[in-house]
This record gives sequence, C-alpha cells and structure tokens, in this order.
Amino acid sequence: TPVIGVLALQGDVREHLVALATADAVARPVRRPEELAEVDGLVIPGGESTTISKLAALFGLLEPLRARVREGMPVYGTCAGMIMLADKILDPRSGQETLGGIDMIVRRNAFGRQNESFEAAVDIKGVAGDPVEGVFIRAPWVESVGADVDVLAEHEGHIVAVRQGDALATSFHPELTGDHRVHALFVEMVRAKQAPRSL
Ligand code: GLN
Repeated sequence: TPVIGVLALQGDVREHLVALATADAVARPVRRPEELAEVDGLVIPGGESTTISKLAALFGLLEPLRARVREGMPVYGTCAGMIMLADKILDPRSGQETLGGIDMIVRRNAFGRQNESFEAAVDIKGVAGDPVEGVFIRAPWVESVGADVDVLAEHEGHIVAVRQGDALATSFHPELTGDHRVHALFVEMVRAKQAPRSL
C-alpha cells in the first residue's frame, strides 16, 4: 500500500487525507523534511499559494520538495497546489515561489473572486464514467503548456487539469465532493511507480 503525504502547512489538508484513505492509500500529513522523506507520493492541497510558499520556505521544505519533485516523486496539486507545481505563474505576489515540476504557465485567480466560485461538470481524461463535479474556488487556470504536458480537462476553453510524467494538477477540488476517482487515479500513479519493473 502506497504511503502518500499531504503537505500540511495551510489549506484543506484533512479532506485530502480522507480522500486518499478512501482511495486505498496510507495518508499522512507532511510538515517536516523527515516526514517528506518517508512518503511515496505527495498531495499539495488547495488554500492560498503565497502562504503555502512562504510557510514551505520557513519550514525548510522548499528545497527538499523541489528535490523530490525533480527526482520524480509522484505529486498531485489542487488549486493552490496546482499553482505550486507550475514552472511559471503570471503575476506572482512578492516572495511567492513555486516548486515547479509541470511545464506550464498558470494564471492565479483566473476564474474570478471568491464570490464567483462555482461548480461545473468536468470530463477528465483517464477518469472513467460520469464527469467529475468540479468545485472551483478562486481557481487558477492553465494559460499554456509545454509539449510534454498532457491536457486532461478543459472548462469553457480553459485548461483545468494536466499531467506531466508523475505530476498531476487540477484547478478544482475533488477532495471536497466525496467522489474520490481523481485521488484513485493519483494513488494508481504512485502504485505504478512503486511496482517492480518487469523484465
Ligand atoms: N487563489 C488561491 C491562490 O492563489 C487558490 C485558491 C484555492 O486553492 N482554492 O493560492
């Protein structure tokens, strides 16, 4: 069973822990480099990306996180977590850093303000069955992607889910809906990475 961490500096950590556990992973909060070293994969939750970035720096996690993402640890970012995985963001706040990992440019708060938050059905490549109920809360969108990035979903012409290798990101929050198919997809990515290579 894969052990999957949830970066627990700020944001909706608990909901991700529940979603991962429901999708058959062992889920743990990660706040310290020693805890990061013990997980097979990591979720970066929604919340506020500037705050997550500053707390990651304060907790000495920025470089360890970057190193593990570079080494190919499977990682899944929702909303603010998507922003953290962007190689580049438009209009970063001062002091805001990302981990990178996905060759994309992300626009923060692209879908509008808090009171313009909305839900919409989203068809996600790799998630079988009915569309997922996408919860968009001051959500970013992906402005552009590099050639190695797989676009998994769009909403009204804007990219809202992507994957590059072992990094997955969504603009929306599957952890809030009780439908754990996106988490199951991520757990499978982690499992695939763990599986011994067949010769
Ligand atoms: N707009 C927030 C940010 O910039 C993200 C919102 C969210 O995670 N729901 O970090």
